[in-house]
Amino acid sequence: MKSFRCNLCPRNCNADRLNGQLGYCRAGQPEIASFCIHKGEEPSISGENGSGAIFFSHCTLSCKFCQNYPISQYGIGKAISIERLSEIMLILQKRGAGNINLVTADQYIPWIIHAVRSARADGLHIPILFNTSSFLNVEALEKLDGIVDIFLADFKYFDEAAAAFLCNTFSYPTYAKKAIQKMYELVGAVDTESSAATRGLIIRHLVIPGFIDQSYKILDWIKKTFGSQVTVSVMGQYFPAYKAVEISKIGRKLNRKEYMRVVQKAKRLQFSGWIQNENCDINRDENFINYGREL
Ligand code: SF4
Repeated sequence: MKSFRCNLCPRNCNADRLNGQLGYCRAGQPEIASFCIHKGEEPSISGENGSGAIFFSHCTLSCKFCQNYPISQYGIGKAISIERLSEIMLILQKRGAGNINLVTADQYIPWIIHAVRSARADGLHIPILFNTSSFLNVEALEKLDGIVDIFLADFKYFDEAAAAFLCNTFSYPTYAKKAIQKMYELVGAVDTESSAATRGLIIRHLVIPGFIDQSYKILDWIKKTFGSQVTVSVMGQYFPAYKAVEISKIGRKLNRKEYMRVVQKAKRLQFSGWIQNENCDINRDENFINYGREL
């Protein structure tokens, strides 16, 4: 890339990132924290052999409870070239990954496009999955047409007040709705009959203690916007991390009653998808592994 002014997400920093300017997310050129075969994703994503996850540093959001904050907020990671990124995709494919899972790569879209094209030219044939917060401009998403096969899209908060409280970004709901609709336009619904997703949109939602009204509103919006053909993943693995440990309202684990109320709502709306372990008072790692209970 010769020049690039970053307006990938609604913060529209216009930062000249190739020449050292940093925007809100503090991302310059690509950095990754790690890559691995990940077997803890939703069953259609993990498939039989696991998902080839690449964890990118930084984030366009700064959620107060971020479960991944050392990487997203403190920028833990190492700089990586497009050539090495492409090579890592091929390594993960060789290790048996069912897809390449780009975790929080929103702030690196131009580099991702180059890396995927290069890897495909060298034999990459598994689906590309874009694991996103959904705080992206639709123009940035349009660039992923033909590059990304599966969108694993968070829908975090429905009301501006909740978004302002939980991530200091009152505009999140407005942009997330537009972004999720664009993702659906690009790839459609995921094929729920297949044991491993090859194309389509999955909407993820993490239930937050004290905010289950947001979960209800999000599920209602998904139903109203897409019907029940869009697959949803209702996550119950919340634990207080990062700044949440000092905020009484969100400084506790989600309790089973709260989580199950949201699950029941999803069932009533006749969604298909996944929930995590119903006994969400047990430790979070166990919750995470216990994916797969169908709605
Ligand atoms: S991706 Fe980062 S630099 Fe670009 S507009 Fe968003 S916050 Fe700003």
